[in-house]
Amino acid sequence: MPDPTLASKASKGPLRPQTGEDVPLLQNFIGGRWVPSTATQWLDVHNPAKGTVIARTPLSTGRDLDAAVTAARQAFAGWSETPPVIRARTMFKFKAQLETHFEELARIVTTEHGKTLDEARGSVRRGIECVEVACGGPSMLMGYGLENIATSIDCTVMRQPIGVCAAIAPFNFPAMVPLWFLPFAVVCGNTFIVKPSEQVPLSQRRMFELLEQCDLPPGVINLVNGGREVVEAICDHPGIKAVSFVGSTPVARLVYQRASHAGKRVQSLGGAKNFVIVMPDADLDRGIPIITESFYGCAGERCLAGSVLLTVGSAHQPARDMLIDAARALKVGDGLEPGVTMGPVISAPHRDKVRGYVDRGVSDGATLALDGRDLEVDDRPDGYFIGPSVFDRVAPEMVIGREEIFGPVASVCPVGSLDEAIRVMERHPNANATSIFTSSGKAAREFSHKATASMVGVNIGVAAPMAYFPFGGARDSFFGDLKVHGRDAFDFYTDKKVTITRWF
Ligand code: NAD
Repeated sequence: MPDPTLASKASKGPLRPQTGEDVPLLQNFIGGRWVPSTATQWLDVHNPAKGTVIARTPLSTGRDLDAAVTAARQAFAGWSETPPVIRARTMFKFKAQLETHFEELARIVTTEHGKTLDEARGSVRRGIECVEVACGGPSMLMGYGLENIATSIDCTVMRQPIGVCAAIAPFNFPAMVPLWFLPFAVVCGNTFIVKPSEQVPLSQRRMFELLEQCDLPPGVINLVNGGREVVEAICDHPGIKAVSFVGSTPVARLVYQRASHAGKRVQSLGGAKNFVIVMPDADLDRGIPIITESFYGCAGERCLAGSVLLTVGSAHQPARDMLIDAARALKVGDGLEPGVTMGPVISAPHRDKVRGYVDRGVSDGATLALDGRDLEVDDRPDGYFIGPSVFDRVAPEMVIGREEIFGPVASVCPVGSLDEAIRVMERHPNANATSIFTSSGKAAREFSHKATASMVGVNIGVAAPMAYFPFGGARDSFFGDLKVHGRDAFDFYTDKKVTITRWF
Protein backbone atom coordinates (compact mmCIF):
# COMPACT_ATOMS: atom_id res chain seq x y z
CA MET A 1 0.00 0.00 0.00
CA PRO A 2 1.58 3.36 -0.94
CA ASP A 3 2.33 5.65 1.96
CA PRO A 4 0.80 9.09 1.44
CA THR A 5 2.93 11.74 3.10
CA LEU A 6 1.05 12.56 6.25
CA ALA A 7 2.30 14.61 9.17
CA SER A 8 2.56 12.56 12.35
CA LYS A 9 2.99 13.70 15.89
CA ALA A 10 4.01 10.30 17.12
CA SER A 11 7.72 10.70 16.47
CA LYS A 12 9.81 7.58 16.24
CA GLY A 13 11.07 6.69 19.70
CA PRO A 14 13.62 4.08 20.68
CA LEU A 15 13.29 0.69 19.02
CA ARG A 16 12.49 -0.74 22.43
CA PRO A 17 11.14 1.45 25.19
CA GLN A 18 13.59 2.35 27.90
CA THR A 19 12.80 0.89 31.29
CA GLY A 20 12.62 2.91 34.47
CA GLU A 21 11.14 6.00 32.77
CA ASP A 22 8.09 7.72 34.12
CA VAL A 23 6.20 7.37 30.85
CA PRO A 24 3.51 4.73 30.43
CA LEU A 25 4.14 2.04 27.85
CA LEU A 26 0.84 1.18 26.29
CA GLN A 27 -0.45 -2.34 25.91
CA ASN A 28 -3.12 -3.92 23.78
CA PHE A 29 -6.39 -5.28 25.15
CA ILE A 30 -7.03 -8.70 23.66
CA GLY A 31 -9.32 -11.48 24.85
CA GLY A 32 -10.27 -9.61 28.04
CA ARG A 33 -6.67 -8.93 29.17
CA TRP A 34 -4.06 -6.19 28.81
CA VAL A 35 -1.19 -7.77 26.92
CA PRO A 36 2.15 -6.46 25.71
CA SER A 37 2.48 -5.91 22.00
CA THR A 38 5.00 -7.87 19.95
CA ALA A 39 6.07 -4.54 18.44
CA THR A 40 9.70 -3.82 17.76
CA GLN A 41 9.03 -0.12 17.32
CA TRP A 42 7.41 2.37 19.67
CA LEU A 43 6.26 5.91 19.13
CA ASP A 44 6.35 8.83 21.54
CA VAL A 45 2.96 10.38 22.29
CA HIS A 46 3.07 14.10 23.10
CA ASN A 47 1.03 16.65 24.97
CA PRO A 48 0.78 19.20 22.12
CA ALA A 49 0.39 22.15 24.49
CA LYS A 50 3.71 21.42 26.18
CA GLY A 51 5.64 19.32 23.71
CA THR A 52 6.29 16.73 26.44
CA VAL A 53 6.24 12.95 25.97
CA ILE A 54 3.29 11.49 27.89
CA ALA A 55 3.29 7.86 26.72
CA ARG A 56 4.86 5.42 24.33
CA THR A 57 2.64 3.44 22.03
CA PRO A 58 3.61 0.23 20.26
CA LEU A 59 3.49 -0.13 16.51
CA SER A 60 1.79 -3.48 16.86
CA THR A 61 2.32 -6.21 14.34
CA GLY A 62 0.13 -8.39 12.18
CA ARG A 63 0.62 -11.08 14.83
CA ASP A 64 -1.00 -8.86 17.47
CA LEU A 65 -3.91 -8.19 15.14
CA ASP A 66 -4.24 -11.90 14.42
CA ALA A 67 -4.40 -12.62 18.16
CA ALA A 68 -7.20 -10.05 18.49
CA VAL A 69 -9.12 -11.60 15.59
CA THR A 70 -8.75 -15.06 17.14
CA ALA A 71 -10.10 -13.81 20.47
CA ALA A 72 -12.94 -11.94 18.76
CA ARG A 73 -13.88 -14.98 16.67
CA GLN A 74 -14.00 -17.20 19.73
CA ALA A 75 -16.19 -14.68 21.55
CA PHE A 76 -18.54 -14.28 18.59
CA ALA A 77 -20.15 -17.71 19.01
CA GLY A 78 -21.50 -16.86 22.47
CA TRP A 79 -22.03 -13.13 22.04
CA SER A 80 -24.04 -13.42 18.84
CA GLU A 81 -26.45 -15.80 20.66
CA THR A 82 -26.75 -13.52 23.71
CA PRO A 83 -30.21 -11.93 23.81
CA PRO A 84 -30.13 -8.37 22.45
CA VAL A 85 -31.60 -7.01 25.67
CA ILE A 86 -28.64 -8.40 27.63
CA ARG A 87 -26.20 -7.07 25.07
CA ALA A 88 -27.89 -3.67 25.38
CA ARG A 89 -27.54 -3.82 29.16
CA THR A 90 -23.74 -3.77 28.78
CA MET A 91 -24.09 -0.51 26.90
CA PHE A 92 -26.25 0.96 29.67
CA LYS A 93 -23.38 0.08 32.03
CA PHE A 94 -20.88 1.65 29.66
CA LYS A 95 -22.98 4.81 29.52
CA ALA A 96 -22.95 4.98 33.32
CA GLN A 97 -19.15 4.53 33.37
CA LEU A 98 -18.72 7.26 30.78
CA GLU A 99 -20.88 9.67 32.78
CA THR A 100 -18.98 8.92 36.00
CA HIS A 101 -15.64 9.51 34.28
CA PHE A 102 -16.82 12.26 31.93
CA GLU A 103 -14.53 15.00 33.18
CA GLU A 104 -11.52 12.70 33.40
CA LEU A 105 -12.05 11.55 29.80
CA ALA A 106 -12.36 15.13 28.57
CA ARG A 107 -9.07 16.01 30.27
CA ILE A 108 -7.35 13.03 28.64
CA VAL A 109 -8.63 14.18 25.24
CA THR A 110 -7.30 17.69 25.81
CA THR A 111 -3.98 16.42 27.13
CA GLU A 112 -3.23 14.14 24.20
CA HIS A 113 -4.93 16.12 21.44
CA GLY A 114 -4.73 19.77 22.43
CA LYS A 115 -8.31 20.96 21.88
CA THR A 116 -9.84 23.06 24.65
CA LEU A 117 -11.50 21.36 27.57
CA ASP A 118 -14.92 22.60 26.45
CA GLU A 119 -14.33 21.17 22.99
CA ALA A 120 -13.17 17.90 24.53
CA ARG A 121 -16.27 17.77 26.72
CA GLY A 122 -18.43 18.31 23.65
CA SER A 123 -16.76 15.45 21.84
CA VAL A 124 -17.10 13.06 24.77
CA ARG A 125 -20.77 14.03 25.02
CA ARG A 126 -21.25 13.24 21.33
CA GLY A 127 -19.61 9.86 21.92
CA ILE A 128 -21.89 9.10 24.85
CA GLU A 129 -24.89 9.90 22.66
CA CYS A 130 -23.83 7.07 20.36
CA VAL A 131 -23.84 4.69 23.33
CA GLU A 132 -27.33 5.95 24.25
CA VAL A 133 -28.66 5.25 20.77
CA ALA A 134 -27.05 1.81 20.80
CA CYS A 135 -28.88 1.10 24.08
CA GLY A 136 -32.04 1.03 21.96
CA GLY A 137 -30.61 -1.91 20.03
CA PRO A 138 -33.41 -4.39 20.79
CA SER A 139 -35.94 -2.09 19.11
CA MET A 140 -33.67 -1.16 16.23
CA LEU A 141 -32.79 -4.80 15.56
CA MET A 142 -36.39 -5.91 15.06
CA GLY A 143 -37.16 -7.53 11.79
CA TYR A 144 -40.38 -7.53 9.80
CA GLY A 145 -42.51 -9.95 7.90
CA LEU A 146 -45.61 -10.62 5.87
CA GLU A 147 -48.16 -13.42 5.98
CA ASN A 148 -49.43 -15.03 2.81
CA ILE A 149 -46.85 -13.85 0.33
CA ALA A 150 -48.46 -16.77 -1.50
CA THR A 151 -51.30 -18.87 -0.14
CA SER A 152 -50.23 -20.21 3.30
CA ILE A 153 -46.65 -19.05 2.82
CA ASP A 154 -45.16 -16.47 5.18
CA CYS A 155 -41.99 -14.44 4.97
CA THR A 156 -39.89 -12.93 7.78
CA VAL A 157 -36.79 -10.77 7.88
CA MET A 158 -34.45 -11.13 10.86
CA ARG A 159 -31.27 -9.19 11.47
CA GLN A 160 -28.23 -11.23 12.40
CA PRO A 161 -24.76 -10.08 13.43
CA ILE A 162 -22.06 -10.53 10.83
CA GLY A 163 -18.94 -11.46 12.82
CA VAL A 164 -15.73 -9.71 13.79
CA CYS A 165 -15.75 -6.01 12.87
CA ALA A 166 -12.99 -3.40 13.18
CA ALA A 167 -12.67 0.39 13.31
CA ILE A 168 -9.62 2.49 12.43
CA ALA A 169 -9.63 6.01 13.89
CA PRO A 170 -8.01 9.38 13.08
CA PHE A 171 -6.23 11.65 15.55
CA ASN A 172 -8.72 14.48 15.75
CA PHE A 173 -11.45 12.93 17.93
CA PRO A 174 -9.64 10.42 20.14
CA ALA A 175 -12.60 9.49 22.33
CA MET A 176 -15.57 10.06 20.04
CA VAL A 177 -14.79 8.43 16.70
CA PRO A 178 -14.45 4.84 17.99
CA LEU A 179 -17.80 5.37 19.72
CA TRP A 180 -19.37 5.98 16.31
CA PHE A 181 -18.89 2.24 15.80
CA LEU A 182 -18.17 0.09 18.84
CA PRO A 183 -21.51 0.45 20.70
CA PHE A 184 -23.56 -0.28 17.58
CA ALA A 185 -21.44 -3.24 16.48
CA VAL A 186 -21.48 -4.79 19.95
CA VAL A 187 -25.20 -4.32 20.59
CA CYS A 188 -25.89 -5.95 17.23
CA GLY A 189 -24.05 -9.05 18.45
CA ASN A 190 -20.72 -8.61 16.69
CA THR A 191 -17.29 -8.69 18.28
CA PHE A 192 -14.99 -5.77 17.76
CA ILE A 193 -11.44 -4.47 17.32
CA VAL A 194 -10.45 -0.79 17.68
CA LYS A 195 -7.25 0.58 16.15
CA PRO A 196 -6.85 4.12 17.55
CA SER A 197 -4.63 6.76 16.00
CA GLU A 198 -1.05 6.22 17.15
CA GLN A 199 -0.92 9.97 17.82
CA VAL A 200 -3.67 9.84 20.47
CA PRO A 201 -3.95 6.37 22.01
CA LEU A 202 -4.66 7.37 25.61
CA SER A 203 -8.39 8.11 25.41
CA GLN A 204 -9.05 4.62 24.06
CA ARG A 205 -6.91 3.05 26.74
CA ARG A 206 -9.13 4.67 29.38
CA MET A 207 -12.25 3.82 27.41
CA PHE A 208 -11.30 0.15 27.43
CA GLU A 209 -10.59 0.24 31.16
CA LEU A 210 -14.16 1.48 31.56
CA LEU A 211 -15.46 -1.19 29.19
CA GLU A 212 -13.79 -3.77 31.42
CA GLN A 213 -16.40 -2.84 34.04
CA CYS A 214 -19.37 -3.55 31.78
CA ASP A 215 -19.73 -7.37 31.91
CA LEU A 216 -18.65 -7.95 28.33
CA PRO A 217 -17.32 -11.49 27.87
CA PRO A 218 -13.59 -11.74 27.00
CA GLY A 219 -12.88 -11.14 23.32
CA VAL A 220 -16.04 -9.14 22.56
CA ILE A 221 -14.01 -5.92 22.47
CA ASN A 222 -10.31 -5.64 21.65
CA LEU A 223 -7.85 -2.78 21.32
CA VAL A 224 -4.79 -3.00 19.09
CA ASN A 225 -2.47 0.02 19.09
CA GLY A 226 -0.37 0.75 16.06
CA GLY A 227 -0.24 2.27 12.62
CA ARG A 228 -0.07 1.19 9.02
CA GLU A 229 0.87 -2.47 9.62
CA VAL A 230 -2.21 -3.03 11.78
CA VAL A 231 -4.43 -1.19 9.29
CA GLU A 232 -3.20 -3.34 6.43
CA ALA A 233 -3.64 -6.49 8.51
CA ILE A 234 -7.23 -5.44 9.29
CA CYS A 235 -7.93 -4.92 5.58
CA ASP A 236 -6.50 -8.32 4.65
CA HIS A 237 -7.48 -10.61 7.53
CA PRO A 238 -10.06 -13.17 6.38
CA GLY A 239 -11.51 -13.35 9.89
CA ILE A 240 -12.72 -9.72 9.81
CA LYS A 241 -16.08 -9.18 8.11
CA ALA A 242 -16.52 -5.39 8.24
CA VAL A 243 -14.19 -2.40 8.43
CA SER A 244 -14.96 1.21 9.37
CA PHE A 245 -12.26 3.76 8.62
CA VAL A 246 -12.07 7.47 9.41
CA GLY A 247 -9.09 9.55 8.27
CA SER A 248 -7.59 11.39 5.32
CA THR A 249 -8.87 10.84 1.77
CA PRO A 250 -5.78 9.06 0.37
CA VAL A 251 -5.80 6.47 3.18
CA ALA A 252 -9.61 6.20 3.17
CA ARG A 253 -9.53 5.35 -0.52
CA LEU A 254 -6.77 2.76 -0.03
CA VAL A 255 -8.53 1.13 2.90
CA TYR A 256 -11.80 1.00 0.98
CA GLN A 257 -10.16 -0.60 -2.03
CA ARG A 258 -8.02 -3.05 -0.08
CA ALA A 259 -10.67 -4.18 2.41
CA SER A 260 -13.46 -4.47 -0.15
CA HIS A 261 -11.10 -6.39 -2.46
CA ALA A 262 -10.72 -8.83 0.45
CA GLY A 263 -14.51 -9.25 0.45
CA LYS A 264 -15.39 -7.12 3.47
CA ARG A 265 -18.19 -4.69 4.09
CA VAL A 266 -16.49 -1.25 4.25
CA GLN A 267 -17.42 2.29 5.19
CA SER A 268 -14.48 4.65 4.75
CA LEU A 269 -14.72 8.31 5.69
CA GLY A 270 -12.14 10.64 4.18
CA GLY A 271 -10.97 14.23 4.35
CA ALA A 272 -12.82 17.44 3.61
CA LYS A 273 -12.72 20.93 2.16
CA ASN A 274 -15.82 22.61 3.45
CA PHE A 275 -17.36 25.70 1.88
CA VAL A 276 -19.37 28.20 3.91
CA ILE A 277 -21.55 30.58 1.92
CA VAL A 278 -22.55 34.02 3.22
CA MET A 279 -25.41 35.72 1.39
CA PRO A 280 -25.88 39.50 1.39
CA ASP A 281 -29.02 39.08 3.53
CA ALA A 282 -27.25 37.04 6.24
CA ASP A 283 -27.55 38.13 9.87
CA LEU A 284 -23.82 38.70 10.39
CA ASP A 285 -24.06 39.73 14.04
CA ARG A 286 -25.36 36.28 14.85
CA GLY A 287 -23.68 34.44 12.00
CA ILE A 288 -20.03 35.51 12.29
CA PRO A 289 -19.48 34.10 15.82
CA ILE A 290 -20.88 30.78 14.54
CA ILE A 291 -18.70 30.93 11.42
CA THR A 292 -15.63 31.78 13.52
CA GLU A 293 -16.25 28.71 15.65
CA SER A 294 -16.65 26.62 12.51
CA PHE A 295 -13.28 27.72 11.07
CA TYR A 296 -11.20 27.86 14.25
CA GLY A 297 -12.88 25.44 16.67
CA CYS A 298 -10.55 22.52 17.50
CA ALA A 299 -7.84 24.65 15.80
CA GLY A 300 -9.43 23.79 12.45
CA GLU A 301 -8.72 20.07 12.95
CA ARG A 302 -12.26 18.93 12.24
CA CYS A 303 -13.63 17.20 9.19
CA LEU A 304 -16.66 19.50 9.45
CA ALA A 305 -14.63 22.71 9.89
CA GLY A 306 -15.30 25.59 7.54
CA SER A 307 -12.32 26.17 5.27
CA VAL A 308 -13.39 28.49 2.43
CA LEU A 309 -15.77 31.38 3.06
CA LEU A 310 -17.61 32.16 -0.18
CA THR A 311 -18.98 35.66 0.26
CA VAL A 312 -21.74 36.55 -2.19
CA GLY A 313 -21.79 40.11 -3.58
CA SER A 314 -22.04 42.82 -0.94
CA ALA A 315 -21.55 40.29 1.89
CA HIS A 316 -17.83 40.23 1.18
CA GLN A 317 -16.45 43.25 2.97
CA PRO A 318 -18.50 43.09 6.20
CA ALA A 319 -18.18 39.30 6.53
CA ARG A 320 -14.42 39.43 5.96
CA ASP A 321 -13.86 42.31 8.39
CA MET A 322 -15.99 40.76 11.12
CA LEU A 323 -14.28 37.38 10.68
CA ILE A 324 -10.85 39.00 10.99
CA ASP A 325 -11.90 40.79 14.20
CA ALA A 326 -13.38 37.62 15.69
CA ALA A 327 -10.34 35.51 14.76
CA ARG A 328 -7.98 38.10 16.24
CA ALA A 329 -9.94 37.96 19.52
CA LEU A 330 -9.36 34.22 19.98
CA LYS A 331 -7.18 33.34 22.95
CA VAL A 332 -4.66 30.69 21.95
CA GLY A 333 -3.07 28.55 24.65
CA ASP A 334 -3.12 25.32 26.61
CA GLY A 335 -6.63 23.92 26.28
CA LEU A 336 -6.69 23.02 29.98
CA GLU A 337 -6.34 26.68 30.97
CA PRO A 338 -9.53 28.66 31.63
CA GLY A 339 -10.32 31.33 29.07
CA VAL A 340 -8.37 29.66 26.25
CA THR A 341 -10.52 29.46 23.11
CA MET A 342 -8.09 27.75 20.74
CA GLY A 343 -5.54 25.07 21.58
CA PRO A 344 -2.42 23.93 19.73
CA VAL A 345 -2.44 21.70 16.66
CA ILE A 346 -1.56 18.05 17.03
CA SER A 347 2.19 18.05 16.33
CA ALA A 348 5.23 20.09 15.37
CA PRO A 349 5.26 18.58 11.84
CA HIS A 350 1.57 19.41 11.44
CA ARG A 351 2.12 22.99 12.68
CA ASP A 352 4.90 23.35 10.13
CA LYS A 353 2.65 21.94 7.42
CA VAL A 354 -0.06 24.49 8.26
CA ARG A 355 2.54 27.29 8.24
CA GLY A 356 3.67 26.00 4.86
CA TYR A 357 0.11 26.41 3.55
CA VAL A 358 0.06 30.02 4.76
CA ASP A 359 3.40 30.64 3.01
CA ARG A 360 1.97 29.08 -0.13
CA GLY A 361 -1.14 31.26 -0.01
CA VAL A 362 1.06 34.36 0.15
CA SER A 363 3.27 33.23 -2.73
CA ASP A 364 0.20 32.34 -4.81
CA GLY A 365 -1.04 35.92 -4.46
CA ALA A 366 -3.84 35.73 -1.87
CA THR A 367 -4.01 38.63 0.60
CA LEU A 368 -2.97 37.57 4.09
CA ALA A 369 -5.24 39.74 6.20
CA LEU A 370 -4.42 38.07 9.52
CA ASP A 371 -1.14 36.20 9.97
CA GLY A 372 -1.01 33.57 12.71
CA ARG A 373 2.27 31.97 11.69
CA ASP A 374 4.54 33.38 14.36
CA LEU A 375 2.23 33.27 17.34
CA GLU A 376 3.89 32.21 20.57
CA VAL A 377 2.29 31.32 23.88
CA ASP A 378 4.44 32.76 26.67
CA ASP A 379 4.01 30.06 29.30
CA ARG A 380 4.04 27.19 26.79
CA PRO A 381 7.13 27.85 24.66
CA ASP A 382 7.40 24.23 23.49
CA GLY A 383 3.75 23.78 22.49
CA TYR A 384 2.67 23.26 18.88
CA PHE A 385 0.86 26.56 18.52
CA ILE A 386 -0.12 28.48 15.45
CA GLY A 387 -2.45 31.45 15.53
CA PRO A 388 -5.56 31.99 13.41
CA SER A 389 -4.94 33.24 9.87
CA VAL A 390 -7.37 34.83 7.41
CA PHE A 391 -6.72 35.09 3.70
CA ASP A 392 -8.73 37.40 1.49
CA ARG A 393 -9.16 37.27 -2.29
CA VAL A 394 -8.47 33.55 -2.51
CA ALA A 395 -9.14 32.01 -5.90
CA PRO A 396 -10.72 28.54 -5.60
CA GLU A 397 -8.00 27.01 -7.79
CA MET A 398 -5.18 28.15 -5.47
CA VAL A 399 -3.60 25.44 -3.31
CA ILE A 400 -5.11 26.96 -0.15
CA GLY A 401 -8.51 27.00 -1.88
CA ARG A 402 -8.25 23.36 -2.91
CA GLU A 403 -6.34 21.32 -0.34
CA GLU A 404 -7.42 20.33 3.15
CA ILE A 405 -5.25 22.43 5.50
CA PHE A 406 -6.65 20.98 8.73
CA GLY A 407 -5.53 24.00 10.70
CA PRO A 408 -6.75 27.47 11.75
CA VAL A 409 -6.68 29.11 8.32
CA ALA A 410 -9.70 30.74 6.66
CA SER A 411 -9.76 31.51 2.95
CA VAL A 412 -12.24 34.23 1.97
CA CYS A 413 -13.28 34.01 -1.64
CA PRO A 414 -15.68 36.62 -3.10
CA VAL A 415 -18.25 35.33 -5.61
CA GLY A 416 -20.96 37.08 -7.58
CA SER A 417 -23.97 34.89 -6.89
CA LEU A 418 -25.29 31.82 -5.11
CA ASP A 419 -25.06 29.93 -8.39
CA GLU A 420 -21.37 30.75 -8.64
CA ALA A 421 -20.83 29.60 -5.04
CA ILE A 422 -22.56 26.31 -5.81
CA ARG A 423 -20.42 25.88 -8.93
CA VAL A 424 -17.24 26.39 -6.87
CA MET A 425 -18.41 23.68 -4.48
CA GLU A 426 -19.38 21.34 -7.32
CA ARG A 427 -15.87 21.54 -8.81
CA HIS A 428 -14.24 20.28 -5.60
CA PRO A 429 -13.73 16.52 -5.27
CA ASN A 430 -14.46 16.50 -1.53
CA ALA A 431 -18.06 16.84 -0.41
CA ASN A 432 -18.28 16.43 3.32
CA ALA A 433 -20.10 19.39 4.89
CA THR A 434 -21.23 22.83 3.80
CA SER A 435 -23.21 25.71 5.26
CA ILE A 436 -25.15 28.74 4.10
CA PHE A 437 -25.84 31.87 6.12
CA THR A 438 -28.91 33.68 4.85
CA SER A 439 -32.32 34.97 5.88
CA SER A 440 -33.88 33.78 2.63
CA GLY A 441 -35.76 30.50 2.77
CA LYS A 442 -35.63 30.30 -1.01
CA ALA A 443 -31.83 30.61 -1.12
CA ALA A 444 -31.45 28.10 1.70
CA ARG A 445 -33.76 25.63 0.03
CA GLU A 446 -32.00 25.93 -3.32
CA PHE A 447 -28.59 25.59 -1.67
CA SER A 448 -29.55 22.58 0.40
CA HIS A 449 -31.08 20.89 -2.63
CA LYS A 450 -28.08 21.45 -4.88
CA ALA A 451 -25.20 21.07 -2.42
CA THR A 452 -22.78 18.31 -3.34
CA ALA A 453 -21.84 17.78 0.32
CA SER A 454 -24.00 15.39 2.33
CA MET A 455 -24.08 17.34 5.58
CA VAL A 456 -25.66 20.76 5.09
CA GLY A 457 -26.09 23.56 7.59
CA VAL A 458 -28.48 26.49 7.24
CA ASN A 459 -27.24 29.19 9.62
CA ILE A 460 -25.32 26.36 11.31
CA GLY A 461 -21.52 26.40 11.28
CA VAL A 462 -20.75 22.73 11.90
CA ALA A 463 -23.51 20.57 10.44
CA ALA A 464 -22.79 17.49 12.57
CA PRO A 465 -25.62 14.94 12.50
CA MET A 466 -26.52 13.62 15.95
CA ALA A 467 -26.02 9.96 16.88
CA TYR A 468 -29.52 8.99 15.66
CA PHE A 469 -28.93 10.44 12.16
CA PRO A 470 -26.49 9.20 9.51
CA PHE A 471 -23.06 10.86 9.46
CA GLY A 472 -20.81 10.92 6.42
CA GLY A 473 -20.00 12.83 3.26
CA ALA A 474 -19.97 12.11 -0.46
CA ARG A 475 -17.50 11.91 -3.36
CA ASP A 476 -13.89 11.79 -2.09
CA SER A 477 -15.06 12.32 1.49
CA PHE A 478 -16.83 8.97 1.72
CA PHE A 479 -16.26 5.56 0.21
CA GLY A 480 -18.96 2.99 0.82
CA ASP A 481 -22.72 2.84 1.06
CA LEU A 482 -24.00 2.82 4.62
CA LYS A 483 -23.01 5.80 6.71
CA VAL A 484 -22.03 6.13 10.33
CA HIS A 485 -24.41 5.78 13.30
CA GLY A 486 -28.19 6.26 13.18
CA ARG A 487 -30.22 3.57 11.41
CA ASP A 488 -27.39 2.97 8.96
CA ALA A 489 -25.29 1.51 11.79
CA PHE A 490 -27.85 -1.25 12.39
CA ASP A 491 -27.83 -2.02 8.68
CA PHE A 492 -24.04 -1.98 8.47
CA TYR A 493 -23.58 -4.33 11.42
CA THR A 494 -26.24 -6.90 10.52
CA ASP A 495 -27.22 -9.20 7.74
CA LYS A 496 -30.90 -9.36 6.85
CA LYS A 497 -31.94 -12.97 6.78
CA VAL A 498 -35.16 -13.70 4.89
CA THR A 499 -37.02 -16.90 5.77
CA ILE A 500 -39.92 -18.10 3.62
CA THR A 501 -42.09 -20.67 5.38
CA ARG A 502 -44.76 -23.17 4.37
CA TRP A 503 -46.18 -25.77 6.78
CA PHE A 504 -47.89 -28.85 5.37
P1 NAD B 1 -4.76 9.61 8.64
O1 NAD B 1 -5.37 9.20 7.36
O2 NAD B 1 -3.34 10.02 8.65
O3 NAD B 1 -4.85 8.42 9.73
C1 NAD B 1 -6.06 7.77 10.00
C2 NAD B 1 -5.74 6.33 10.41
O4 NAD B 1 -5.09 5.67 9.34
C3 NAD B 1 -4.81 6.25 11.61
O5 NAD B 1 -5.29 5.28 12.49
C4 NAD B 1 -3.46 5.87 11.01
O6 NAD B 1 -2.72 5.03 11.85
C5 NAD B 1 -3.83 5.15 9.74
N1 NAD B 1 -2.89 5.38 8.63
C6 NAD B 1 -2.20 6.50 8.34
N2 NAD B 1 -1.50 6.36 7.22
C7 NAD B 1 -1.73 5.12 6.78
C8 NAD B 1 -1.28 4.36 5.65
N3 NAD B 1 -0.46 4.86 4.77
N4 NAD B 1 -1.74 3.11 5.51
C9 NAD B 1 -2.59 2.55 6.39
N5 NAD B 1 -3.03 3.23 7.48
C10 NAD B 1 -2.63 4.49 7.67
O7 NAD B 1 -5.70 10.76 9.24
P2 NAD B 1 -5.42 11.67 10.52
O8 NAD B 1 -4.36 12.66 10.17
O9 NAD B 1 -5.26 10.83 11.71
O10 NAD B 1 -6.83 12.41 10.66
C11 NAD B 1 -7.15 13.59 9.96
C12 NAD B 1 -7.93 13.29 8.71
O11 NAD B 1 -9.11 12.56 9.03
C13 NAD B 1 -8.41 14.54 8.01
O12 NAD B 1 -8.25 14.37 6.63
C14 NAD B 1 -9.88 14.64 8.37
O13 NAD B 1 -10.68 15.34 7.45
C15 NAD B 1 -10.24 13.19 8.42
N6 NAD B 1 -11.44 12.96 9.21
C16 NAD B 1 -12.59 12.69 8.53
C17 NAD B 1 -13.76 12.51 9.24
C18 NAD B 1 -15.04 12.25 8.50
O14 NAD B 1 -16.05 12.06 9.16
N7 NAD B 1 -15.03 12.23 7.18
C19 NAD B 1 -13.77 12.59 10.64
C20 NAD B 1 -12.57 12.84 11.30
C21 NAD B 1 -11.41 13.03 10.56
